Amino acid sequence: MTHEEIPILYGSLVFNDKVMRNKLPKDMYKALRKTIENGTHLELDVANSVAVAMKEWAVENGATHYTHWFQPMTGFTAEKHDSFITPVGDGEVIMDFSGKELVKGEPDASSFPSGGLRATFEARGYTAWDPTSPAFIKDGTLYIPTAFCSYSGEALDKKTPLLRSMEALNTEAVKMLKLLGNETVTSVSTTIGPEQEYFLVDKDLYKKRKDLVFCGRTLFGAPAPKGQEMEDHYFGSLKPKVAAYMHDLDVELWKLGIPAKTKHNEVAPAQHELAPIFDTANVAVDHNQLTMEIMKKVADKHGLVCLLHEKPFEGINGSGKHNNWSLVTSDGDNLLNPGSTPAQNIQFLVFLMAVIKAVDEYADLMRVSATSAGNDHRLGGNEAPPAIVSIFLGDELTAVLESIENDTFFGKQKKVQLDIGAHVLPHFVKDTTDRNRTSPFAFTGNKFEFRMLGSAASVANPNVVLNTAVAEALAQFYTELEGTKPEDMEQAVHELIKRAIRKHKKVIFNGNGYTDEWVAEAEKRGLYNLPSTPDCLPQLLADKNVELFTKHHVFTKEELASRYEIKLENYVKTIGIEARTLAEMITKDFLPAVSTYAAEVSKNAAAKKSFMAAADTASEEALVEKLSTAYTSLTAEVTELKTLIDTSFALEDTQKCAEAFHDQVLAKMEDIRTVASDIEALIPDSILSYPTYDQLLFSL
Ligand code: ADP
Ligand code: MG
Repeated sequence: MTHEEIPILYGSLVFNDKVMRNKLPKDMYKALRKTIENGTHLELDVANSVAVAMKEWAVENGATHYTHWFQPMTGFTAEKHDSFITPVGDGEVIMDFSGKELVKGEPDASSFPSGGLRATFEARGYTAWDPTSPAFIKDGTLYIPTAFCSYSGEALDKKTPLLRSMEALNTEAVKMLKLLGNETVTSVSTTIGPEQEYFLVDKDLYKKRKDLVFCGRTLFGAPAPKGQEMEDHYFGSLKPKVAAYMHDLDVELWKLGIPAKTKHNEVAPAQHELAPIFDTANVAVDHNQLTMEIMKKVADKHGLVCLLHEKPFEGINGSGKHNNWSLVTSDGDNLLNPGSTPAQNIQFLVFLMAVIKAVDEYADLMRVSATSAGNDHRLGGNEAPPAIVSIFLGDELTAVLESIENDTFFGKQKKVQLDIGAHVLPHFVKDTTDRNRTSPFAFTGNKFEFRMLGSAASVANPNVVLNTAVAEALAQFYTELEGTKPEDMEQAVHELIKRAIRKHKKVIFNGNGYTDEWVAEAEKRGLYNLPSTPDCLPQLLADKNVELFTKHHVFTKEELASRYEIKLENYVKTIGIEARTLAEMITKDFLPAVSTYAAEVSKNAAAKKSFMAAADTASEEALVEKLSTAYTSLTAEVTELKTLIDTSFALEDTQKCAEAFHDQVLAKMEDIRTVASDIEALIPDSILSYPTYDQLLFSL
């Protein structure tokens, strides 16, 4: 592909601003821009005009259908395709699309998770066009991003609360900026850059493993002789098959206007990462959903499978999704940019402090926003951040806040020239702070990076929490600063930061988050440590959290209760499927191999003996004994597992049910995993009916 082709290709399947400007009458275009930029209500005549332009453009580009594309609580996207054809008599049709069809859809909502929000007899749900995220064409269909809600207006999706939270933050941020004397800013939006990790495995091998097919992760397996210890995969050169995949992936994403920017090998063998250039939260969330889908699709074309599960393999890193988050004003300024003198930048300090306060007070919600059965395997596993939420600020900002707290003078850190010791290399200035990879929430120069999120999750989750919690912190700061005369503002902000840092500095931790000392220290500081999904989910309904979300109109209490139910159910069902898959694999795939191998070894030993009476068969006997013991114990364990699945499912209370799945089913699965993986290491690959870690991780 040439350098001329890429700009033409980029966004070619998107109904973007340029297309709108070309296709829409001037006044209609202006009205639509107003809606997109200021969130003003869209009139039906504008919608009609946009619908005509969209259809025209879509048909020109080969589309025959349209769909309202939405993000129900399954965590995936949903779509139902309608063709543009409209009969006009005499058996003829025209391609038609109206403003009404663009603005509103009415899918039957009864088969989507609602967590008790909607009885099946009230099955009606609505999809509502989100004009702030551009429509696009995929596989001959025009995709219209929409929000999904129930007949009575309750959110049934991930987009609605995100948009509500962006609005809450916008309101409070603009208010604060005005108070601080910034008169030009009319809106503030959140920006997100999600880095996406994934694994690639060979499709034929994948199909031979029920655990990968049904659960997206291996449930047992002897480790390969080589893991990630050589540190040779991270940023390693791309193997041809992987490079070809990444290239095609970029092209497909670019066509959809997704600014895929960075690609590289990750730490674990067969693990990779893709990062786009950041965008407005809402668009970035839609793009991330699309990216995950296209990753899988392109993989399929290349004879590969893209695994987005958080922990596909034991013993090597799992996959996360780093949520880079910041705030940008309508003037294009990044509110989290410290500038060259952060100590004097009161606007920056107020917003920084608001984030610290928000994360300290709602750390439990941040943890909840990243929770899932899959991600529980990562958090606290010395590869991903611990389940404890803390903030890494770096030396300079920590020192700035300390100097405010203690009324000491902050001597600006000098920019240091980095001396690499070789004169041929260019000289550059060192960053004032190093990176910290173990923190769940790190300040990285001009944005915060939330690293707890799992690779398969919707990025909407943490941003709903972050936006709302920061909106609340700003609202409280506003109350404290309100009425201050402009000439006293600097001093007032100074005092406010002093009070706030004293209260919230406990959440700041610049050290190594992977150590046991930190776990102990965090407990002393009174920080939340909520290791598993059943541990953290009840926090969704804690009074302070219900108050937060209802105050800012992001969730009603009922919506929160429904989300709690859905998440718990999802957890239970996920582990239920995994447990049943494990039972089946052990029974049908693994034990037969154990028995075959035991028989083979016995037969060979007997042959050896009959050939040479004095032959030593002690090793064979020991091996057969091991295999046979494992056979017996695994048979018993699988029976117990099945009983535990049944007794856990039988618990009526969903919370208790989830706890049973965590404490008993998952624990039993771990026991089985340990025995099976140990024994598998003794069995020749040729006898196993499924591919091993060696093959899965090193075949490309
Ligand atoms: P690293 O791996 O060092 O964290 P990457 O370049 O892989 O860095 O990813 C950083 C991500 O942060 C990118 O998606 C980038 O676009 C995004 N980003 C940069 N600035 C902002 C910002 N102001 N707001 C949100 N995201 C940002
Ligand atoms: Mg990163």
